[in-house]
Amino acid sequence: MPSQILKSLTLAVSLLAVPFSLYAKNNVVVVATGGTIAGAGASSTNSATYTAAKVPVNALLDAVPQIQNLANVTGVQALQIASESITDKELLSLARQVNDLLKKPDVNGVVITHGTDTLEETAFFLNLVIHSDKPIVVVGSMRPSTALSADGPLNLYSAVALAADESARGKGTLVMMNDDIFAARDVTKGINIHTNAFVSQWGALGTLVEGKPYWFRQSVKRHNKSSEFNIEDIKGDALPSVQIVYGSGNMLPDAYLAYAKAGVKAIVNAGTGNGSVAGYLVPTLNQLQQQGVQIIRSSRVPQGFVLRNAEQPDDKYGWVVAHDFNPQKAKLLAALALTKGKDAKEIQRIFWEY
Ligand code: ASP
Repeated sequence: MPSQILKSLTLAVSLLAVPFSLYAKNNVVVVATGGTIAGAGASSTNSATYTAAKVPVNALLDAVPQIQNLANVTGVQALQIASESITDKELLSLARQVNDLLKKPDVNGVVITHGTDTLEETAFFLNLVIHSDKPIVVVGSMRPSTALSADGPLNLYSAVALAADESARGKGTLVMMNDDIFAARDVTKGINIHTNAFVSQWGALGTLVEGKPYWFRQSVKRHNKSSEFNIEDIKGDALPSVQIVYGSGNMLPDAYLAYAKAGVKAIVNAGTGNGSVAGYLVPTLNQLQQQGVQIIRSSRVPQGFVLRNAEQPDDKYGWVVAHDFNPQKAKLLAALALTKGKDAKEIQRIFWEY
């Protein structure tokens, strides 16, 4: 064939390929873990009384056929559990599954359907240990699938739209709830009875309307590809043990001592105000710190952040402050930091950077 004809043919084929690529849909995998989004109640008026983790992933996807217009969506049933029952074992196994999926060249994004109780923990963990720029979107619902005005279907539709959208790449693990797009690091469940359950004191990153994300800010903290933690480096099915002690007036030292005796590697103090430790507890915490149990000062106050060396001399005591991380997020970050070492200064650096 003369080369001129061959050139024209090649040009025609590539011109045809352009519109095709414009319309080719991304491939999104929905990884289901249970929770209320997969919950079922006895009647449609049961919005709060129901059993979580009942509906299988295929039924969840079939209930929202519109998602197939957004992406080629397939489902994987990773767990079928209420999220309050998730332990390190399930968390690590889920992270490994998500990591494996995202490494596949034909997977463009992942949605994780999850119970809302510990959704913020799983999202934050994925934000820290998955080295991928592809969108990772965690979603749940406050009403079970069988309820009147169930919020799961639209949340799922929005989550798939977000995971399929190129603009979501590299923005860190995202939480999609009630039309809002949040950063995993600072989102938290702020109310346990309404559909606008998730909040961040720093605001949402964006909002999603009719399948289209609109962005307004971006996290400046390390996440995913820029994280020093990697699920591929973590062996076994447990993280270093970290527990939380809740601060209040008139405390006993017993909870701290019992956790230390049980072998925890760090205790997060969900302290009053600026993460404060009562004067009469300071000797106990210092004794534990000298025995090698790291003391992380977080706060029971949902907003603001713990200031280092302000009311309490953290440098002198060798304590760590959790910065703006709430106690449950501080617990996970401390556990990951402890996979690398137990130097309090190094753990503090990690708390500033993530
Ligand atoms: N307890 C449920 C869970 O976290 C609550 C929910 O999903 O909203 O699995």
